[in-house]
Amino acid sequence: MATASSRSVELDLGDRRVMCALTKNARAKRIILRASPPGDVAITLPRRVGYDEGLKFAESQIEWIKRRLGAAGDGRSLFGAPLEVIRQDDLFADGVTWRHDEGASRLTILSPANDDASTDEILERFYERVADEYLPRRARELARLYGATLTRVAVRKQRSRWGSCSSNGAISLNRRLVHFRKPVIDYVIAHELAHLEYLDHSPDFWCVVEKMIPEYRALRRELRGGVGGKS
Ligand SMILES: [Zn+2]
Repeated sequence: MATASSRSVELDLGDRRVMCALTKNARAKRIILRASPPGDVAITLPRRVGYDEGLKFAESQIEWIKRRLGAAGDGRSLFGAPLEVIRQDDLFADGVTWRHDEGASRLTILSPANDDASTDEILERFYERVADEYLPRRARELARLYGATLTRVAVRKQRSRWGSCSSNGAISLNRRLVHFRKPVIDYVIAHELAHLEYLDHSPDFWCVVEKMIPEYRALRRELRGGVGGKS
């Protein structure tokens, strides 16, 4: 098996900088660029393509990467749309609270003037709350709709997987899914529900997925954020 070598470089998006991981993969046939919110950018290179060339390709796709990461310059997004975050001091508050209506593009954070939690820390808590409320509720709705036997839904902060399932009917979903459009989230949930029937990725498995989500291929691409390079 070929060993993978990789390096990571900073990519200048104009209004901010993100880290971009470049990985060589002997099996890659072309340059593959991936980007997912809030700020993950990764490039897979065939062995014969140099890191410089990979980086040049990424730089030629900056506009695409920015679109993928969310239109907001700070990369803050919710359900596939930019999230505007406003922070206000509230002299009478005895802790941090926020106002956000479901479907709204604006989050207002109210915090006591002497509160030293950073906006990013508060946002983390906000995303966690939204994920804990939305993902299990939606998973149960879809399980009912598709007649799947779902025992438990866990929401976790995972680095590399969007979802997983266990043979006892429990699924777990990645908290970061709340950055994606809701149809993409539905696809991930349906994927895990289909695993309750088939634990593999056999044709039978994909049949079940397609019955639930006929347009799953496009949604899967959106989730992966892949775009092919012309190497
Ligand atoms: Zn799977």
